Amino acid sequence: MPDPQRLRNLPSVASLMESGDVRRILERTPRAVVVDAVRRVLLAFRREAAGGGAGTIRTREEWTSLLLSRLPAEIAGGEAPSLRRVINATGIVIHTNLGRAPLSEEAVRAVTEAASGYSNLEFDLAAGTRSSRLLHVEERILALTGAESAHVVNNNAAAVLLCLAGMARGRDVLVSRGELVEIGGSFRIPDILAESGATLVEVGTTNRTRLADYETAVTGRTALLLKVHRSNFTISGFTEEVPAAELAVLGDRLGIPVMEDLGSGAVFDFAAAGIPGTPTIRQALQQGPGVVTVSGDKLLGGPQAGIIAGRKAIVDPLKKHPLSRALRIDKLCLAALEATLRLYADERRALARVPVLSMIAEEEGSVRLRARKLVRRVGAGGGAGLALSVEPGHSSPGGGAMPEVRIPTFCVAVTHPDVRVEELEERLRRGDPPVAARIGKGKLLLDVRTVRDGELPGLAAALLAAAARED
Ligand SMILES: *Cc1c(COP(=O)(O)O)cnc(C)c1O
Repeated sequence: MPDPQRLRNLPSVASLMESGDVRRILERTPRAVVVDAVRRVLLAFRREAAGGGAGTIRTREEWTSLLLSRLPAEIAGGEAPSLRRVINATGIVIHTNLGRAPLSEEAVRAVTEAASGYSNLEFDLAAGTRSSRLLHVEERILALTGAESAHVVNNNAAAVLLCLAGMARGRDVLVSRGELVEIGGSFRIPDILAESGATLVEVGTTNRTRLADYETAVTGRTALLLKVHRSNFTISGFTEEVPAAELAVLGDRLGIPVMEDLGSGAVFDFAAAGIPGTPTIRQALQQGPGVVTVSGDKLLGGPQAGIIAGRKAIVDPLKKHPLSRALRIDKLCLAALEATLRLYADERRALARVPVLSMIAEEEGSVRLRARKLVRRVGAGGGAGLALSVEPGHSSPGGGAMPEVRIPTFCVAVTHPDVRVEELEERLRRGDPPVAARIGKGKLLLDVRTVRDGELPGLAAALLAAAARED
């Protein structure tokens, strides 16, 4: 049983705030922050007492000094940001849980500029009149994709929602049963369709859908033929799907618009870099759908955004749709998107400067060098008993981009004679900086394809700290 007597000398918040030591802390730290931290420490004392056991009865002075010893860490913890930089050693380049695409230095600078002052976001500096935020990116998107018109919203889910609401509210949308996908984070095509006010008409079967299936399902209520890129899985075996080009021909013949949700559509042709599997936005549009939608922070390697590109007759009305205002892109993302698109004016520059592109395209040999650098750094730091080796493995583009593509890579494989790999993995995850890693074949695997050179010192220090920690 907890003994209430044990807490009888516990000081009050008010009296603690008057003590000399706390007053000194108040010279540097806002009062509200200190009060919060004092309350949390007192609560912890009560919890510990309620936990039972043979506790000591402390004097008021003893409680006060115990509290003061814990207070600095408690204040620091309360002030620490929740959203933190993490070292991604998973080898998954577009890792949705880790914030998808890291931005280029150019994009980061553009965000800082836009964030720290006023800007011509919706102001035509030449004419002195109001203008549209879209103008900062639309021309670049048209140049890079060959589209007649482009619109940009908050993310690709918003882009899909806007297209469906704008083109098909109150009418039918035909989708193959093999493409009724869930992308993750509760983005499900049937749910988005329902929210848009359109009615889903499923055609074909899970594994086989033919052009005739669409054709027979078309009625006077049909507003749109929708094709969805199967971003995060593949169907193999006895399968058949209708290529976008054939669907586009059917749509043109029947006078029904065709839309393709590409998800991870790229600007850069990865096939040229030896990585097959995903069409560029330009190639997708050349197949003939009236409109395509893509994410800004997948293979494009920019900020969270949704790009709608296609025929003028389809895209222009969407810009004036009331939902456009609710789904609009904010100025920081717009700044990052413009800077990212600017890099694409030259493919070689994009490849060198857009982190997602350079990480995916980096040569194995260069990844191996980084892995060796990490091993040397840990060794130079004393090694902490860790056994390290450089081993081949596979990275993945991630982000629902090219699910079938495995990129050869090199990992630093780690074990420790006294610390289980699960324990090492957890310590790294909870460390500073936090490190996300994988476990495979009884070893902790650090895939350095997704680790930047500048992160190596932090990663080595985190490894040494994880191995050295005693508990
Ligand atoms: C990722 C993805 C989405 C969602 O895009 P967000 O930018 O995350 O909103 C929609 N459709 C497909 C096919 C995707 O791959």
